[in-house]
Amino acid sequence: MTESIVAGSSNSGSTVVAIDGPAGSGKSSVSKEIARRRGYAYLDTGAAYRALAWHVLAGGRDTDDAAAVIAATGDFAYAIATDPDDYWVRVGDTDITEAIRDPRVSAAVSGVARVPEVRAHITSVFRGIIAATKRAGIVVEGRDITTVVAPDAPVRVLLTASPEVRAARRSLEVQTQDAATVAAALHKRDASDSTVVDFLTAAPGVTVVDSSELDFNQTVDAVLGVIDERTAGSTHG
Ligand code: C5P
Repeated sequence: MTESIVAGSSNSGSTVVAIDGPAGSGKSSVSKEIARRRGYAYLDTGAAYRALAWHVLAGGRDTDDAAAVIAATGDFAYAIATDPDDYWVRVGDTDITEAIRDPRVSAAVSGVARVPEVRAHITSVFRGIIAATKRAGIVVEGRDITTVVAPDAPVRVLLTASPEVRAARRSLEVQTQDAATVAAALHKRDASDSTVVDFLTAAPGVTVVDSSELDFNQTVDAVLGVIDERTAGSTHG
């Protein structure tokens, strides 16, 4: 179903930084900034689920119909950039970087993400991208990175924030809806997602960074601190 733009030989020496967290925790912008500062690659895993939801909707199919979703993976030519300074997402020749942020896609994505066959397939795609990284490291962010996609990563972080703070942050990003609508959609998606993956509790060995009282730079610094602590003394990180 898919392709990654990261071709080339496997580089098992790359440091994997796994970051999970709920919507509005700041994980995408924080992860991207960390990748920039460290010269690492950046992988937004939510974009793959969003791209598939977009693809299902574009085909006029129902994202709550598991069989239709599985069928849609058959012609899902997905590609994502892993350069934090040149971020894009495509399905076939169509650039969907902006389209996948549409509230319609956000509302549909949980339906796609709850299909086990889809998760297994997409997880193997992520592992391929991680293994092919040519940079010294890769920051991978999502909901199940610390637990399923890269449970052996040397750095594993759960980035949290209170529900109120997350809703407020998300409503600043979504200009087309009022704050109450954005908050309701975010809580509905969290509730639906948390039946599939527990991204609100840290698994053993995962460091929690609560960004409720931190601004963007403080959050970046806190996660960089975890990376330094976890990789101190290692040869590649
Ligand atoms: O991170 P983002 O909010 O863009 O993720 C979009 C959706 O993709 C989530 O609401 C969830 O349904 C799904 N997702 C997932 N596992 C991941 C990343 C995202 O199920 N690792």
